[in-house]
Amino acid sequence: MIKSFGYAVDSATSQFVPFNFERRELGEQDVLIEILYCGICHSDIHQARNEWNNSSYPMVPGHEIVGRVIKVGNSVTKFKEGDIAGIGCMVDSCRTCENCQDGFEQFCQKHVAYTYNSTEMDEKTPTYGGYSSHIVVDEAFTLKISPSLSLAGVAPLLCAGITTYSPLKRYIKAADKVGVVGLGGLGHMGIKIAAAMGAEVTVFSTSLSKKEDAYKLGAQHFVVTKDPENLLPLAGKLDFILDTVSAPHDLKTYLQLLRRNGVMVLVGAPEKPAEVEAFALLRNNRSLVGSSIGGIRETQEMLDFCAEKNILSEVEIISINQLEEAYSRTIKSDVHYRFVIDLKTLSQS
Ligand code: NAP
Ligand code: ZN
Ligand code: ZN
Repeated sequence: MIKSFGYAVDSATSQFVPFNFERRELGEQDVLIEILYCGICHSDIHQARNEWNNSSYPMVPGHEIVGRVIKVGNSVTKFKEGDIAGIGCMVDSCRTCENCQDGFEQFCQKHVAYTYNSTEMDEKTPTYGGYSSHIVVDEAFTLKISPSLSLAGVAPLLCAGITTYSPLKRYIKAADKVGVVGLGGLGHMGIKIAAAMGAEVTVFSTSLSKKEDAYKLGAQHFVVTKDPENLLPLAGKLDFILDTVSAPHDLKTYLQLLRRNGVMVLVGAPEKPAEVEAFALLRNNRSLVGSSIGGIRETQEMLDFCAEKNILSEVEIISINQLEEAYSRTIKSDVHYRFVIDLKTLSQS
């Protein structure tokens, strides 16, 4: 077994503590990655605190992982020692069901081995995420990353990037009027990617202080949502809305901004269900849809798209002993725009 060291929580209310554990020995198709950076996604917070009622402990969160390959199994063809590699939200799936075959491993009909708070394909061995020193993953679930990029800025693409790229690619076309609700980790990637796809982006935010940043990220308009009056001029004007908000909020406020056949996609996953008024959808033949991360093929496509368009996440790099502070600032919406852990600091902790 391969020794790994990370930080874990033991319950929904406990703080992070050092955690020694083991990764499996390298199989034929596996790569061993020394983790360099790991982003902090709000999904880490939801799960660390059992807000989705599906948590098991001890939990080492982290699914925005970038690292260096330090060893490869005998049959590995995609990677060699020294390569830079990425791991997102999944580390395995059955690979044979219809959804896996079609490149939608996140909807595997047998079992999705999520990167943490989940189990390997045996449905017994727990998985541990990227707030740690090393990870062993099958090369089929390992992404290729150009070593010339700023690697801390690449890490958040592995979840925030793909989660916004996938629905934007599915629904929008150049010159569409696109709304992005919530300017946090997902929201800021959504602005950058939608702008790169040629959309006219309006940001809806509770934080007036993020206005200048929204323009720098590529938005044309910024609406402070605290006063509902501010939204009225946009009623019926938007083609598409990407809702990234992590906490319960009123969906009707945004649905009424959609024009005929407009689509609003929920990517945010608040802990409580939302109410949807039928008439908010009936009028203008609106659609309210969801979207979950993206498959492995599409994640690689997104990484290549971002590399070509020079898109990276805006990051605030932290050390491993700043996890609690990063969590509480993220919950307060004080995130600019992704906390990324420098795992070098593990050895100093
Ligand atoms: P984040 O960085 O914390 O950003 C969320 C933003 O939502 C905040 O910065 C804030 O933006 C806004 N917000 C927070 N509380 C609000 C409230 N009460 N009312 C209105 N707006 C509020 O979180 P994230 O990492 O981007 O994740 C966002 C959500 O997506 C989470 O629920 C996460 O679990 C989910 N997620 C889903 C997927 C998927 O596959 N669908 C993947 C990753 C994450 P402003 O300051 O601009 O208002
Ligand atoms: Zn995530
Ligand atoms: Zn499958």
